[in-house]
Amino acid sequence: MADVTSISWTDHTFAPWFGCTKVSPACDGCYAEHLTATRFGKAKWGPHAERVRSAASTWKKPLTWNRAAARDGTSSFVFCSHLSDVFDNQVPPEWRAELFDLIRITPNLTWLLLTKRPQNIVKLFAQSLARPADDPDLRNHWPRNAAVGCTVVTQAEADRDVPILLKSKLQISPAFAFVSMEPLLEAVGLTRVCLRPRVAGSPRAGIHLNSLTGRYFESGVPYHGDWDINGPAPTGPGLALDWVITGGETDQGKHMARPSHPDWFRSLRDQCAAAGVAYHHKQNGEWAPVAIVDPDGIVRGDDIMIWPNGHIGGGTHHQHGGYGSLQRKVGVGRAGRELDGVIHDARPATQGAA
Ligand code: SF4
Repeated sequence: MADVTSISWTDHTFAPWFGCTKVSPACDGCYAEHLTATRFGKAKWGPHAERVRSAASTWKKPLTWNRAAARDGTSSFVFCSHLSDVFDNQVPPEWRAELFDLIRITPNLTWLLLTKRPQNIVKLFAQSLARPADDPDLRNHWPRNAAVGCTVVTQAEADRDVPILLKSKLQISPAFAFVSMEPLLEAVGLTRVCLRPRVAGSPRAGIHLNSLTGRYFESGVPYHGDWDINGPAPTGPGLALDWVITGGETDQGKHMARPSHPDWFRSLRDQCAAAGVAYHHKQNGEWAPVAIVDPDGIVRGDDIMIWPNGHIGGGTHHQHGGYGSLQRKVGVGRAGRELDGVIHDARPATQGAA
């Protein structure tokens, strides 16, 4: 594993163990499964596959990074875990307890604990302390240099997982809370996360949370009632996300990258700007608008038209809920990171070295 990563939103990557189980549409092209199978020969995927712990030398690297950060007066970001899921409940609990011990003795690093299982954050952290998950004292044990995040690639995942992530934020007081929206598979409104639909299965009417401001509303007006998964409704910045990362998909082995409509990224950029939340666009993915990558604009047979509603197909005019984007598969390097000519590199504020 490299000491320094090419992932733009972190400074280091740390893989405490290998192996996982697919739980989200974002897992369809699992980078970790492909990389571990092709490079390390350690792929362990599925609910019954034994997880593999990394070498002792890997576990020592954060100590080196921590010394460097202390010397330089920085607070380097460490993405944990990029080759598994840190809150995978198939992992032996003692490994996770050792991970939290490592986080505690590296206070000059900011650990990014990114998961596709936000429902396990508090439960498995409590398990690492041998305490009950509803222990109000958990927040006093959570390492202040650890942030929590979850992957969100569809509106349904936002409605289901963002409230759980924010509830975890209230319970454990992490460094900050964030979402990684890669690969972004449709338009997602973080300003209208549905907490309780008025009619089951119809989430666009009911009680909503603007997860970028922490404010609730119902039918467009402020709501002050209860939030059914968290009792009396808390409100304000404590209930809001602190950082949003977006990105398009890359090919992984036989899995071919799905395109993202640029409007989906633009919308999240603008939602974050309106709320003052840090926004980071990691990459456009394998696909890019033909208008940008081909100045002559000659349409090729393998170009595709993607519509704002996710429909992929023909058409040259305004239809399918908005304007189509004619895209060409040019590779992740050429597609680049710019969104409308701008690189969005923001990171959330940290308290610096502890
Ligand atoms: S959670 Fe992450 S590591 Fe696990 S299968 Fe999904 S993409 Fe792969």
